[in-house]
Amino acid sequence: MIYQRSSQLFIEAEKVIPGGVNSPVRAFKGVGGTPIFAKSAKGAYVYDEDDNRYIDYINSWGPMILGHAYQPVVDAVIERAKNGTSFGMPTELETKIAALAISMVPNIDKIRFVNSGTEACMSAIRLARGFTKRDKIIKFAGCYHGHSDSFLIQAGSGASTFGIPNSPGVTQGTAKDTLLAHYNDLESVKALFEANKNEIAAIIIEPVAGNMGCIPPKDGFLQSLRQLCDEYNSLLIFDEVMTGFRLAKGGVQELYNVNADIVCFGKVIGGGLPVGAFAARNEIMNYLAPIGPVYQAGTLSGNPLAMAAGLAMLEALNTDDEVFERLDAKTAYLENGIREALQKHQVIFTINRVGSMISVHFDANPVVDFQTAKNGDNETFKKFFHGLLKEGVYIAPSAYETWFITDALSFEDLDYTINAVGKVAKSL
Ligand SMILES: *Cc1c(COP(=O)(O)O)cnc(C)c1O
Repeated sequence: MIYQRSSQLFIEAEKVIPGGVNSPVRAFKGVGGTPIFAKSAKGAYVYDEDDNRYIDYINSWGPMILGHAYQPVVDAVIERAKNGTSFGMPTELETKIAALAISMVPNIDKIRFVNSGTEACMSAIRLARGFTKRDKIIKFAGCYHGHSDSFLIQAGSGASTFGIPNSPGVTQGTAKDTLLAHYNDLESVKALFEANKNEIAAIIIEPVAGNMGCIPPKDGFLQSLRQLCDEYNSLLIFDEVMTGFRLAKGGVQELYNVNADIVCFGKVIGGGLPVGAFAARNEIMNYLAPIGPVYQAGTLSGNPLAMAAGLAMLEALNTDDEVFERLDAKTAYLENGIREALQKHQVIFTINRVGSMISVHFDANPVVDFQTAKNGDNETFKKFFHGLLKEGVYIAPSAYETWFITDALSFEDLDYTINAVGKVAKSL
């Protein structure tokens, strides 16, 4: 493959944008080399500025669950744009997408739309703190909840790739209110509750973790967190920015049959436009301004283009009864194929998967939390990444990311990918 134009564009970008990118992990620092500049995408494929084609396993980091340039979303955005792109006034569209989201997700009465997953999680903990009148939150090492101050404490993916567990600029005052537990380790959570009685507003968790690779919750782990929160009068926040509208219509609450108090959304809910949202039952959501005391706002929140895209996406997912089964079947097929290909060449690895989230870790031991995720051999991952890229298969440029599977992938695409993994495995 020739990356001439991408390389040139990166040099130009670096002069005017820090690191040449608007989100750090795009810069390929975790894998070496320079980033590929996207020119267009359709279905399962993305095309770069040198006209190379890749089977895309990033899919804008999740949103394109039905493939790139999905026609109903494209049409909805174009139609809306003709009638004005932003008003700063309420629109009917916002009520429509809110009602649809609430009908799909269990246990929520109201939803508020924001512009990113970061904003959703940031607002969710403010709401939880306001509602409980407590300051502290528990987060899990390796979970990512966006880049707001409270969460940049052992934050997985981007932050881990760059080894900035605590970013400069996050004050000690803020950091002290974020208590750190270990994923799948209930005792670590209990200990924090014991040591901070009546001080913990909420636990926030990726109920299936996706920012340290894909890490499923152990049997009963989420249920035990639910019980602990009930016992200590704290709220349970599910950050479903990645899992929401991906693992099931109703997300992880539905999949594992456990209720959260506040649920955060992003990625799929915007159909590829900048959207986040948080939702809860009335009692909690009515604590928000303008009817409650907790302030939260946004000039472009509920933006009509974004809402049109999100609505078209959710309608498509809601009316297709088999979409999540298909995604699961395709990802299972990929998992089996990769497993066989890597085994054949005696590569040491572990694969984790839940539905259409999957990650390959180059370590023999089970990957169940941030510590075990960090044991993966990053040098092998780098070779794996660049090898696949040369074969026209684009996975996330970091060992701490899941692959995002799209329904636009055909079984031919999956076979091509498995074959490429086999070729690359020889040289690992
Ligand atoms: C991507 C992600 C976020 C942040 O969303 P942005 O839209 O990038 O701000 C938060 N939580 C989880 C679980 C995510 O995967």
